[in-house]
Amino acid sequence: HAETALYRAKEQGRNNYQFYTPTVHTKGIKRLQMETMLRHALERNELVVYYQPRLDARTGKLVCVEALVRWKHPQLGMIPPDDFIPLAEDTGLITRIGETVLKQACRQRQLWNRQGVPPFRVSVNLSPRQFRQMDLPEVIHNILADTGLAPEYLELEITESAAMQDVNYAILMLKVLKEMGMTIAIDDFGTGYSSLSYLKRFPIDVIKVDQSFIRGIKDDSEDAAIVQAIIVLAHSLNLDVTAEGVETSEQLEFLKNQQCNEIQGYLIGKPMSAETLRDWIVLENTLSASGSGRPLFH
Ligand code: C2E
Ligand code: MG
Ligand code: MG
Ligand code: MG
Repeated sequence: HAETALYRAKEQGRNNYQFYTPTVHTKGIKRLQMETMLRHALERNELVVYYQPRLDARTGKLVCVEALVRWKHPQLGMIPPDDFIPLAEDTGLITRIGETVLKQACRQRQLWNRQGVPPFRVSVNLSPRQFRQMDLPEVIHNILADTGLAPEYLELEITESAAMQDVNYAILMLKVLKEMGMTIAIDDFGTGYSSLSYLKRFPIDVIKVDQSFIRGIKDDSEDAAIVQAIIVLAHSLNLDVTAEGVETSEQLEFLKNQQCNEIQGYLIGKPMSAETLRDWIVLENTLSASGSGRPLFH
């Protein structure tokens, strides 16, 4: 199964302290230990959600924050999602993790509403397995009902490869989710193999260009050409384009010149806790109000 193979490859490719063991046998044990630890993490609420800002490339306005899960382990410290999401996906634990993240993100956005924080969206990543779950609309509906959040505040990110696994299913599922009022984004675009005719059939709003292409913009003319082509294509389909992983002002300049709609990356801000994000917003507003502005957006 290609997806599992990909996760395995990813696991092995990384110098991963949790998973990498020389024999299949010990590897199995490690995985089992890890799975048990992850179950405990869920019970003890050790999973926290960080938020990374995404800005309008022209105005610098905050349009969305991406919810990114972290595992705050009492002994091991912060464990990044790439170190436990693949295992969670394999074992099925992702369903519960995904619900936890959705719940936290919706609750947080609703809290921001009460605090008068501007009405930017919050986007949540859906794993392939979550996306394949037929009751996903119901799960989301219940979370929105419980938290009282309006669906317009929620954006869902599904990777290009997950969408392409079963195109007809994806079209139907995305249609239902979109009709509920959510914004739909295709994540890591360019790394999968979608045919352009499918892109047209997907009821989506945003394409997020994978950061691997953004990285090469300045030095790799092929990456630059690919990003340029994706932007033109997306615009011809009336979709907004977000560039992921923007780290330098040169990259930002290029993207602005190519009419890229939105940008996300360390240049703007790293993923941060909800509290830090609030301070970040206040600071940004102070900077713009004082006229010194965001130098990036002049
Ligand atoms: P993603 O959805 O493509 O998220 C973007 C990743 O790129 C995040 O890594 C983010 O911190 C990182 N990033 C953002 N800007 C920059 C930059 O300028 N430079 C670099 N080098 N990296 C940047 P993170 O938080 O470690 O998440 C990694 C992946 O884990 C995510 O990729 C997503 O696929 C998955 N993930 C995270 N949270 C969740 C979740 O709640 N559910 C699911 N299913 N997957 C999640
Ligand atoms: Mg994402
Ligand atoms: Mg991505
Ligand atoms: Mg990614």
